Amino acid sequence: MQTERLYYNEPYLLEFDAEVRGTLDLGARVGVLLDRTAFYPTSGGQPHDVGTLGGVAVVDCYEDEQSGDIVHVLEGKPGTTRVRGQVDADRRKDHMQHHSGQHVLSRAFVELYGWPTLSFHLGVETCTIDLGVDSASRDQLDRVEDLANRIVQENRSVSIRYLNEDSIAEAGLRKATERTGEIRVIDVSGYDRSACGGTHVRNTHEIGPIQITGVSRAKKQTRVEFICGNRVLRHARATHRALETISQTVSSRLLDTPSAVASVWQEFQQTKKRIEDLESHLLDHEAAAFPVDDAGYAVAAFKDRGIETLKMLAARIAKRPGTVVLLADQSDQLRVVFARAADSALDVSALLKKTIEKFGGRGGGRPDFAQAGGLNGDVDAVLKFAKQIVHGL
Ligand SMILES: [Zn+2]
Repeated sequence: MQTERLYYNEPYLLEFDAEVRGTLDLGARVGVLLDRTAFYPTSGGQPHDVGTLGGVAVVDCYEDEQSGDIVHVLEGKPGTTRVRGQVDADRRKDHMQHHSGQHVLSRAFVELYGWPTLSFHLGVETCTIDLGVDSASRDQLDRVEDLANRIVQENRSVSIRYLNEDSIAEAGLRKATERTGEIRVIDVSGYDRSACGGTHVRNTHEIGPIQITGVSRAKKQTRVEFICGNRVLRHARATHRALETISQTVSSRLLDTPSAVASVWQEFQQTKKRIEDLESHLLDHEAAAFPVDDAGYAVAAFKDRGIETLKMLAARIAKRPGTVVLLADQSDQLRVVFARAADSALDVSALLKKTIEKFGGRGGGRPDFAQAGGLNGDVDAVLKFAKQIVHGL
């Protein structure tokens, strides 16, 4: 005997009594089989319900593929064989709004552009419809959104029908079904008919607003993200607040933020370029005046100069003939940069390798330029060591 699915005909039923028919050992959790249930098991793109059974939390619900039984996954064993089930109302309502919203949207895609829905996913963060089309423009999506919201506002009835497989061909389903026997069909009055096992609202106005929030392309398909009902309100509130914060930061009116942010960004890029140019000039001067000893060594320890500056400085100093440059910087980690002039035969990458062998860290480079980070040791000791072993290479 399979579980009687109360949600098939009573999608608004959230409280019910049932008999425990058996339990499954699922390790830390218990699988409970009932004679009847209002809990929706994950299927057809719609996630499972949560709630309680005999006061114990139901954390998952799925359909056993072989037996067709519905397995309620509980955090513990219910104390009695006669149990009261309580389905989480907010989560179920959210699922009903989005599943019905998906049917309305999917029909709008067919109605306006002939694009079939290949699959549907209802998630906690986002809901998606995969369409069998290469691409969709923002303008086309706006039209679909308009039609879907019109259907919502027309408050059409959404009813559950059962059709025989023999009469299914004339039923005008949006998408052909492979199901046999008695087929459950969701009918949005005068608009859409689809074979579906999900839970749906009674009237389209209960879906609330439908908003397409994103679009992406993948393998000749188009994935559309959407939200319905209360999520639209929450999303509108969150995006409005984000926009308000941005508009205050850039001192512009709310709807002028795109151009205001663009000009701030442009200014930032120009300033960045100017700082880079100035830093380059400064480094030229610093390198020209950098102390090099009689043997050609330029050795120095820095604090918080940063690896990029250190590399630029080393490269500039190494332009002076006959120099060997050994620089170190202690910031969040100890880094070294070794370089040498083009007329020197020294292999600084070999020098770096030996230094890493002694002090640890990671790095590498070429014979004329090498760098490493994450060394363990005193910055002066590292430089002293490197300088001492140059002659042994
Ligand atoms: Zn459906």
